[in-house]
Amino acid sequence: MSAAGSVREQALPAGWELVVGLEVHVELSTATKLFCGCANRFGDEPNTNVCPVCLGLPGSLPVANASAVESAMSLGRALGCEVRGAVFARKNYFYPDMPKDYQISQYDQPTNIDGRLELPDGRTVGIERAHIEEDTGKTTHIGGGGRIHDADHALVDYNRAGVPLVEIVSRPDIRTAEEARAFVRELRAILLAVGASDARMEEGSMRVDANVSVRPAGSDELRTRCEIKNLSSLRSLGRAIAYEAQRHVGLWSGGERPRQETRHWDEANGRTTPGRSKEDADDYRYFQDPDLVPLSPTPEVVAAIDAALPPLPAARRAALIEDCGAELSAVDAAVLVERDQDALVRAAVAAGAPPALTATRVCNDLAVEDWSKVTPQLLAELMAMESAGQVTATQAKQLMAEMADSGEAPAAIAERRGFKAMATDDLDTILQRVIADNGDAWDRYCAGDENERKKLAGFLTGQVMRATRGQADGSAVNRLLQEKVDRN
Ligand code: ZN
Ligand code: MN
Repeated sequence: MSAAGSVREQALPAGWELVVGLEVHVELSTATKLFCGCANRFGDEPNTNVCPVCLGLPGSLPVANASAVESAMSLGRALGCEVRGAVFARKNYFYPDMPKDYQISQYDQPTNIDGRLELPDGRTVGIERAHIEEDTGKTTHIGGGGRIHDADHALVDYNRAGVPLVEIVSRPDIRTAEEARAFVRELRAILLAVGASDARMEEGSMRVDANVSVRPAGSDELRTRCEIKNLSSLRSLGRAIAYEAQRHVGLWSGGERPRQETRHWDEANGRTTPGRSKEDADDYRYFQDPDLVPLSPTPEVVAAIDAALPPLPAARRAALIEDCGAELSAVDAAVLVERDQDALVRAAVAAGAPPALTATRVCNDLAVEDWSKVTPQLLAELMAMESAGQVTATQAKQLMAEMADSGEAPAAIAERRGFKAMATDDLDTILQRVIADNGDAWDRYCAGDENERKKLAGFLTGQVMRATRGQADGSAVNRLLQEKVDRN
């Protein structure tokens, strides 16, 4: 097996427990940057969205972007944080992509503290803080395979310098790699809901660092952790955590201890490699930025932010399950909310659509890419046709695709294409013939236990489908079979 394939997210050896905290940097989707009027836009020509402020030229002065601050506060409230008075601080370090040689961030007085994020399965992960800071520029190393040591030269794009970020720091409450992924997915859903960010990992507008350590199961100590930087997909996040945890267990078990350090995830080889040993906060020589006034949100400001918060994913999942009933699984509810289709399903249900069927169809219909033309009324109409047996499940699927394409009413499409499920009488005649031709199967069906019945129902339905060239409605055949057994 290749090295890349060998990293499985297997559980840790018995007696060990995984401890993960995440730090997520999110770019806010404001029109302009955090401290100047330059456009905040991904993908423009390099160094076109720059000015003296974001280039750090002497004498330029930053002014905080009110909409970025509000957006960060909304996110904080959506995460259940306390929004407090905050101070911007200079975090000093020397990288070429930081034209000022310091990053404006928040240190001991961040905007948001002490929140929580509820995962779809009901577990809660604490949020320590969510502070505002500016992004750096982007360095590209040319030559030497893109690595800094062998590179010919480096190019710096300052379009990203000064773009507003929120850094969300979780508490070390995450216990599995899958839970880490669920955290990021849920955070993304919250970001989209409040409109704070487009949260695209692949474009770098959401970047995840994972602090990983292990400890004897059941203890509450925190052992030395390693920080894995810049995980750029959910897949990498899960694999990197799993690898790193196994590495720590190996070290501790062999009488060694991990070094506290920053590590990089090597996707190709499926392992982490050491980076710089982690700076302590002292190394950054934080101090209050004298060019910026503290942020002092009044209770009225916070109340207005709360009032403007949209329904959040956890509440939307609960409402969807409430409307659709217990048949809708938590997983499907999470998928629908994540895809922003819960409102469509709920409105269709309100318009009379059968709840469980509608939720399942919308959740599983991957043939439809663009749902914008599927109105709740059209969806309700189609689902009513299917559940009444007027069209088969297969036909309903085709109708869904065509309806999404054209926005035409499903009844009209069905009419034009000659779709209709067979009338029950015709179906009954055909079913009787199938039963007569397959007497043995029918007898075993009648006498069988639940499992046997399921199997034979599938067989008999298949025969009916063959005889009708797929025009029959499978659930109607099942219903008829059941009726016949009951009468027997
Ligand atoms: Zn600028
Ligand atoms: Mn940061």
